[in-house]
Amino acid sequence: MKDTGKIKVYFENSASATAVKSSKQKERILKRIAVFGSTGSIGTQALGVIAANPDNFSVEILTAQNNDELLVQQALQFNPNIVVIGDEKKYLKVKESLASTNVKVFAGEKALEEVAAMNCYDLMLAAIVGFAGLKPTMKAVENGKTIALANKETLVVAGDIMMKKAVEYRAPVIPVDSEHSAIFQCLVGETRNRIEKIILTASGGPFLGRKPNYLVNVKREHALQHPNWKMGAKISIDSATLMNKGLEMIEAKYLFNLNPEQIQVIIHPQSIIHSMVQFEDGSIKAQLGLPDMKLPIQYALAFPQRIGNKLPRFDFRRMNTLTFEEPDIRTFRNLSLAIDALNKGGNLPCVLNAANEIAVYAFLKNRIGFLDMTELIEKTMLHVPFIEKPTLEEYFESDGEARNFAADIIKL
Ligand code: NAD
Ligand code: MG
Repeated sequence: MKDTGKIKVYFENSASATAVKSSKQKERILKRIAVFGSTGSIGTQALGVIAANPDNFSVEILTAQNNDELLVQQALQFNPNIVVIGDEKKYLKVKESLASTNVKVFAGEKALEEVAAMNCYDLMLAAIVGFAGLKPTMKAVENGKTIALANKETLVVAGDIMMKKAVEYRAPVIPVDSEHSAIFQCLVGETRNRIEKIILTASGGPFLGRKPNYLVNVKREHALQHPNWKMGAKISIDSATLMNKGLEMIEAKYLFNLNPEQIQVIIHPQSIIHSMVQFEDGSIKAQLGLPDMKLPIQYALAFPQRIGNKLPRFDFRRMNTLTFEEPDIRTFRNLSLAIDALNKGGNLPCVLNAANEIAVYAFLKNRIGFLDMTELIEKTMLHVPFIEKPTLEEYFESDGEARNFAADIIKL
């Protein structure tokens, strides 16, 4: 069992960053936010939080991959310093649409990293989906910025390197993922105390209780319908296969410096308890609330403060039954593949993630079936050579190799 030493560093970093900000409050009252992935589910909800709290936050950077129209609309509303459109073909259109403003427009993958290395912001909301979020988030860490981390794939791919850099560059990493936000909230004030285990809750997704003979026929539209959360397409599919919970176990390992045995998953279909921490005295702390991503987003943006809001409140009298059950990892084999990657470590989580991104992409394009995703990931994990302590370059190579292999199998 490890202690929570690393967490202490993050809390201290966060507290000192905030102290610096408050001492400079007269000249700079607002926390300046960079929203990477502003047109997505997390990005748009974050802008909702920011719009509701204009005295707390300003928007300095917005980035999007394809959705130029929404990006322009957001830029006109929030008047950032910079926008980045990933798809370079859309640069001129965005530039022309913002010609009457002072907003600087950049385009392309490299620009994301260049902008992340700038000094015009205090906190990056890392809300790009998938491996694409890794490089800009790494740059923001190296830039000593606070990271509000939604992009869990970053930690799945290179969590060891990312968290080492976060300590080295004194960059606080505040989770946005609701489960990790819950754990983080349970750990405030507990930095000297040992964690026995964390209990990650999972809704079970739209196919809870179903067996393979049902899953073999499910289609994308059905898999995209999550019972409790409205999310982007990739994470919705990950939730339906339970890969999301596997990625979250790996995310938790790195965020909270845990051993795999300290991470337990429990199905909790109501999604009211967002996760729990059990300490060495057996006491369990939990964080509860209605399932609404605005809460963990707001918490991460405002940390260490809490700010008020008008979101609906959970009422125990109206929902008086909270239930729990074991995850069915024989049916939802993606979760057992992720547990395997968690236990073996090295480049295996990176390979799992890359194969999963290809599998989800192919499923969303109706190219493969629901259960084929698991088979593709398993084959790729067996194919790519294991590296115990990869460098960052080796992580990139493993990612590329896994993607190419998986794409070849299904002739993408
Ligand atoms: P989404 O698909 O709705 O949005 C993704 C954003 O990233 C968009 O702004 C898009 O333009 C941008 N993007 C996509 N591909 C890109 C690329 N190649 N380069 C640069 N930018 C790119 O996704 P989401 O649901 O908002 O999820 C974002 C991240 O947050 C994911 O890592 C997800 O796992 C995590 N997360 C999401 C939720 C949720 O409720 N949506 C909850 C917890 C964690
Ligand atoms: Mg989550």
